[in-house]
Amino acid sequence: MPAPEVSDYDLAIAGGGINGTGIARDAAGRGLKVLLVEKDDLASHTSSGSTKLIHGGLRYLEYYEFRLVSEALAEREILLRAAPHIIAPLQFVLPHEPHLRPAWMIRAGLFLYDHLGGRKTLPSSIGVHLGRSKWGAGLKAKFDKGFVYSDAKVDDARLVVVNALAAREQGAEIRTRTRLVGARRDRGLWRVTLGRSAGATEEVRARALVNAAGPWVKQVLDEVSAAPAKAAVRHVKGSHIVVPRVHPEDHAYILQNSDNRIVFVIPYESDFSLIGTTDIPVDDFEAPVISRGEIDYLCEIANAYLARPIGAGEVVWTYSGVRPLYDDGTADPSAVTRDYVLKLDTGEGSQAPLLSVFGGKITTYRRLAESALSELKPFFPQMKGDWTRAEPLPGGDMPRGGLVAFERDLAGRYPALPVALRAALVRRHGTRTPRILGEAKMAGDLGTFFGHTLYAAEIDYLVAHEWARSADDVLWRRTKCGLHLTVGQRNAVAAYLREQYGHE
Ligand SMILES: Cc1cc2nc3c(=O)[nH]c(=O)nc-3n(C[C@H](O)[C@H](O)[C@H](O)COP(=O)(O)OP(=O)(O)OC[C@H]3O[C@@H](n4cnc5c(N)ncnc54)[C@H](O)[C@@H]3O)c2cc1C
Repeated sequence: MPAPEVSDYDLAIAGGGINGTGIARDAAGRGLKVLLVEKDDLASHTSSGSTKLIHGGLRYLEYYEFRLVSEALAEREILLRAAPHIIAPLQFVLPHEPHLRPAWMIRAGLFLYDHLGGRKTLPSSIGVHLGRSKWGAGLKAKFDKGFVYSDAKVDDARLVVVNALAAREQGAEIRTRTRLVGARRDRGLWRVTLGRSAGATEEVRARALVNAAGPWVKQVLDEVSAAPAKAAVRHVKGSHIVVPRVHPEDHAYILQNSDNRIVFVIPYESDFSLIGTTDIPVDDFEAPVISRGEIDYLCEIANAYLARPIGAGEVVWTYSGVRPLYDDGTADPSAVTRDYVLKLDTGEGSQAPLLSVFGGKITTYRRLAESALSELKPFFPQMKGDWTRAEPLPGGDMPRGGLVAFERDLAGRYPALPVALRAALVRRHGTRTPRILGEAKMAGDLGTFFGHTLYAAEIDYLVAHEWARSADDVLWRRTKCGLHLTVGQRNAVAAYLREQYGHE
């Protein structure tokens, strides 16, 4: 009799965005042996191209997406507790324009929004006068009344990285710059072929396969199945512009255009405002970039509200992402469900399952991971139950008194470090900040200074512990220092990575 096949892993996951890393963390914590492969860098696609909100999605109420909205609302407080260094409460002002919607309807919507998700710490919604208060900062004088409600903002790329860190700390293996190039079922296991950048391939065996390839979900399905996949995904591009700060207050604006689309204006990286997004169906989703038409569209909507108009010439950065939405047959791209859909293919003999993830939001990634694991439970009956709900993410394990107490303690330990540097490191690394600072007394002890708040000590840490290889990994995903550095300073980061580590 041939020996029974032995698997290298319980779970192989393709995709290092928020959904893949979220599933990896959850599965590894339940005792499964997990391998995650990401063809590029962690969060290098949709999961760093979002509007960076942890939100219920006020406008989805209009599409009667009550399940999605209440699940997302409840997640806000869970995630705020798990990662308070990279997720923070944010208040939104909705200027009221009677021709768009009557005030009673908005009040009713906000009442639902306040009560659907078991809100505990976030403030409830209120009606406000704009002209005579901070709530109208930067707006045209004609906007008199408005509403304020609460959601949260997130550093989306770092949320992916901390999930990958948590997964690795639970025993998962995370391989970036590694592509799933094929997989086939063989005697109750998956034989998964992995490709590295230099063209070398390797085969591993896994008992189950998760396809969390985001916009590439159908490609991966086609690569691993004998027959082309029936399930369809719609690719909808969304772009953002970043401009110098349009008002000094802490709140964001939610602006409604006459085409019914919503555009957010969000305080970003202290000196800037982030404005987005658009909704454009695309066929080519590999490397989305903003078009001139999208820049004009975003400026035009913002300028309908802002006292001091912004122009395309003020845009300091743009980014675009592609929503991988499950195709539910709806004509309007803004109306296609933002909910996630999980498709389980159990193959013949109910062995070697393939679970594919369609759609979803950053906000609901943790719940999506729980649902994914519950789909896989029949194949891993010994697996532990849900565990992530009250568990901090790496860097989020704050002392009593929370982030403020931690920052105070850090100031005591590193009194000679610039306040802005301490604050920036805490916003990136939370309680792990001392791992970067070590014995440093002054900023000069942190090695070469590259600009803003970036020093060699942090780059070394990112390379050693957070899978960073290229200058883009460091400047645009592990940190957002790219926004603050000159071209020359960014080139110096690339040169450092090349010289110290041989990384391009
Ligand atoms: C414009 C825009 C704004 C958004 N705003 C918000 C928001 O404010 N709040 C919110 O909650 N949600 C928001 N979303 C939704 C959210 O960003 C996405 O749902 C989420 O990031 C999807 O994550 P993912 O892991 O499925 O996909 P991705 O992040 O794209 O990850 C998939 C990964 O799979 C990798 N991959 C593909 N094929 C292979 C292969 N063969 N082998 C190995 N790896 C592979 C890719 O390289 C990619 O990194 C927004 C989306 C967009 C586009």
